[in-house]
Amino acid sequence: MTTTPTQVTSILTRTSGYLESVASHSLQPYRGCALGHSLCGVACYVRHNRFVTHGREWGDFVEPRINAAAMYRRQYPRERMWARGRSRGKFCVFLSSSTEPFQPAETKYGVTRSVLEAMGELPPDELIVQTHSHRVLDAADVLCRVKSVCQVRVHISIESDRETLPGLPKPASPVERRVAAGLALRDKGIFTVATVAPLLPIENPECFFASLQPAFDAVVIDHFIGGDGSASGSRTRRTALPQRMALVEPASVTLAYRDQIVAAARNFFNQVGVGCAGFAGVYSA
Ligand code: SF4
Repeated sequence: MTTTPTQVTSILTRTSGYLESVASHSLQPYRGCALGHSLCGVACYVRHNRFVTHGREWGDFVEPRINAAAMYRRQYPRERMWARGRSRGKFCVFLSSSTEPFQPAETKYGVTRSVLEAMGELPPDELIVQTHSHRVLDAADVLCRVKSVCQVRVHISIESDRETLPGLPKPASPVERRVAAGLALRDKGIFTVATVAPLLPIENPECFFASLQPAFDAVVIDHFIGGDGSASGSRTRRTALPQRMALVEPASVTLAYRDQIVAAARNFFNQVGVGCAGFAGVYSA
């Protein structure tokens, strides 16, 4: 793993594609991701983005953007005005779509924390935190401060009740610890969402959603078909993931499986989102 602190000239990116209806901006405190060799990294769509990787192996590099908070402060007035002038009229930041904001480097560099502190002073209208790590709990104090000045949702990815699939690496953060992080944040009054995305074969859907229920206000379910930024899931089909999913549960590589899991989730949650709309905070019972 190569860690190279960098300075950036911009940190707020106007969204397009899948994220456009979810948030007005995305914010990546790091370039690269130390979780790239773990389960979520197998089908991580960023690994194919040459603009990000510059030919490097995904999971082998991370660049802490050490002036991210300063750039947020600098861009804030203009980007907030731009976002508020659009049809949705809201300055909403998605943190993060192309990296893990609470990866191990955060302990040393604290880039995500510094950005959250800046948001406490200059709040967006809405903040969506997206993480695969229980380490989000380390930022509970600053997330509570941001919550006092703007809407906050914390999305924690929990793709299945299984720790992994045969032949694939383990997740960087055990399922149990991610659920515990959701519970602790929810106890502090933070709106928590379990993002079951990409949906992997679930061993016992009833037990799974029963275990998520105390820890999360809502659940969002998304399949790699349509959820990986391609209509047919072609990005994910270039990886080992669909084949491994099919070995465990053949139906899991179809959208009918997603619908079956959505129905199971509705037995436990009044707020269930599906696909992109779910990430945007549109839920139904
Ligand atoms: S944490 Fe996110 S960015 Fe990092 S490898 Fe996993 S899916 Fe990709």
